[in-house]
Amino acid sequence: MLKFFLENTEDVMVILNEEMEAVFLSETFEKVLEIPVLPNLGRKFNEVVINFPSLPLMKPNQKMVIPISTKVTKRSLMFEFQFRHVSLSEVPGKLIFCVGKDVTEREQVLKKFKDIAFKEKELSQMKSRFVSMASHEFKTPIATIVSSVMIMQMLLDKEFSEEIKTKLLGHIDKVLNQSNRLTSIMSDVLLLEKSIQQDINLNVKKVFIGKFVNQLVAEINDENLGRRTVKLFLPETDKTINTDESMLIHVLRNLIQNALNYSPNSLDPEVQVSFIGNYVEIMVKDYGIGIPREEHDNIFGSFYRAKNVGNIKGTGLGLNIVQELTKKLNGEIWFKSKEGIGSEFYVSFPTK
Ligand code: ADP
Repeated sequence: MLKFFLENTEDVMVILNEEMEAVFLSETFEKVLEIPVLPNLGRKFNEVVINFPSLPLMKPNQKMVIPISTKVTKRSLMFEFQFRHVSLSEVPGKLIFCVGKDVTEREQVLKKFKDIAFKEKELSQMKSRFVSMASHEFKTPIATIVSSVMIMQMLLDKEFSEEIKTKLLGHIDKVLNQSNRLTSIMSDVLLLEKSIQQDINLNVKKVFIGKFVNQLVAEINDENLGRRTVKLFLPETDKTINTDESMLIHVLRNLIQNALNYSPNSLDPEVQVSFIGNYVEIMVKDYGIGIPREEHDNIFGSFYRAKNVGNIKGTGLGLNIVQELTKKLNGEIWFKSKEGIGSEFYVSFPTK
């Protein structure tokens, strides 16, 4: 009966002595795990099955899942072993009886569930951050739009003098600005959603990166007319990278805009392009409020904003999108920052 049972089960049976040497190995040991029985009898068992626990970890009846790779067919299995301490009158000392089951499928399903649960948790956190961002960030523009339109309504009832005209134009300006802000927040949300869903088509071209950054910084400096100037440091010779221009503009604009936003009343931000090996590294540096050390790990999370932002406006979406787009462009992004001193954000891309 015992022989029949041992031959017709997929379970692996092992008996070890107190020295952890194999006293008995079932035939399935060879059949399922592809480890020969005879040469391994008497060997220390954790040399036969790597990852096998040592004696103190084998609590009676405890179950333990161990990863095993088979030698011949190169399969990765997960084996659940259960241990029992037994004494037999024929053998001196205590024995450890171990039964191992193939639980690979179960563990794979479990891992999938865990992954899904993790993603669900992330999504739900992201959703609640979105709701809190939207309730803050939409309030001011909507309130401004409503009050401006109401004032415009009242003004339109009055005599149409030059003064009223100027006031009306001022309010129309406010309505337009705040509507643009709402549109830009919503297009950021959509862009993030698209990049997470891998739904972005790249339009890749060869681009002279020094020239490209030079033009972009000049544009930004023009837009900021007289208020702040972004300083630019370029290498003497230029190189090309394969990139999607509009995405790269989005990445760099965001970093430069952050450097300007988060450094009020400080020295002007700087942009530096360097070629290092087969990479171009673009650094955006500011002398602003910096990012507190304990927030460094979260700064790329969606809708995440550091606690020291004060009343500087923002949605916490920019860096998340920048990180996704940089990955899409085969690049890397990282930063160094000290609260109260400033930040350096780096992106790098392979040169051709
Ligand atoms: P936003 O600027 O709209 O809040 P981002 O995703 O661009 O969103 O940035 C996330 C957060 O990272 C910001 O809210 C801010 O706390 C911090 N941060 C980003 N760039 C800088 C910077 N240059 N200096 C200081 N803090 C920064």
